[in-house]
Amino acid sequence: MIIEMKPDSTLADLGRVISAVETLGFTPRPHHGPQRTVIGVMDAGARDLEGVGDLAGVARITPLAGKSKLVSRDFRPESSVVKVGKVQIGGPGFVVMAGPCAVESHDQLLGTARHIRSAGAHVLRGGAFKPRTSPYSFQGMKEEGLRLLAAARQETGLPVITEVIAPDLVPLVCRYVDILQIGARNMQNYALLEAVGKVRTPVLLKRGLMSTIEEMLLAAEYIMSNGNDQVMLCERGIRTFERATRNTLDLSAIPVIKQQSHLPVIIDPSHAVGVREFVEPMALAAAAAGADGIIVEVHPDPAQAVSDGPQSLTFPGFTGLMERLAGVAAAVGRPLASTA
Ligand code: PEP
Ligand code: MN
Repeated sequence: MIIEMKPDSTLADLGRVISAVETLGFTPRPHHGPQRTVIGVMDAGARDLEGVGDLAGVARITPLAGKSKLVSRDFRPESSVVKVGKVQIGGPGFVVMAGPCAVESHDQLLGTARHIRSAGAHVLRGGAFKPRTSPYSFQGMKEEGLRLLAAARQETGLPVITEVIAPDLVPLVCRYVDILQIGARNMQNYALLEAVGKVRTPVLLKRGLMSTIEEMLLAAEYIMSNGNDQVMLCERGIRTFERATRNTLDLSAIPVIKQQSHLPVIIDPSHAVGVREFVEPMALAAAAAGADGIIVEVHPDPAQAVSDGPQSLTFPGFTGLMERLAGVAAAVGRPLASTA
């Protein structure tokens, strides 16, 4: 349920409504928007809040229509902005996250970090814990990889994002990085979603390989209902009958999510197409279709990459992408975010 406060209600009114909801045994989640103050009470039904509607300052109490609540635009009409250092994701500028699929060495990571920074990227990506389809594939450098990410941030000033694959790794990963990535394979790992919901580090939640948009929004609801509202949603391609690309990029997810949710939307064209040549057109399309940013794989020598080499952009490829992206982003009124 949503309790909407009157425009002229006071903080004392709000306090009394919050206490009344708590006394009834429910969890009030106040949200102060520019237009209105509302209190979400996601665990209450229509009959549970009897009497609250009569309290001073309450305009109305209405149910939330969809299944997702805290992620919904009905709860929070204005778009959310996730701030990571000086970078605003979901703000006026289009954001680019880039870097290797996996952290492989100091030189590989630092070289890539320097290059993407000089080309205008905003966030450095790199996997330290890799969830691989085969148990015999490279599983990542683990904590040493996290140390290298922290060193790259130290040198370049770029915030860093990396994947966390298990609840008990959340405290460790939070010590080193700025954004936690939940991978596609873990989108419905509810213990992991709860664990990242209990910290304050921003989370990029990737859409599951075979998940609907509604399922992704409900996965985000797990994170937010545990207390972390710094969430971004990432479309990275879904599995279809088409084999020409690794997955099928669901670009229509951008306007659908934007209509239903206030959370920022990031497109991952690399895992969507799996083929280097197709990454740039999909990145440009993402900017044109209203995404808040992209996350792309870049490697100094893709042929030698331990994972996802065929979809990784070369350094010149990334520079070219950034040049053309700047044009498309500006043309649709969402210029690349500043790197100052
Ligand atoms: C990745 O970002 O390298 C990755 C494994 O992505 P996904 O979870 O989307 O497959
Ligand atoms: Mn990858």
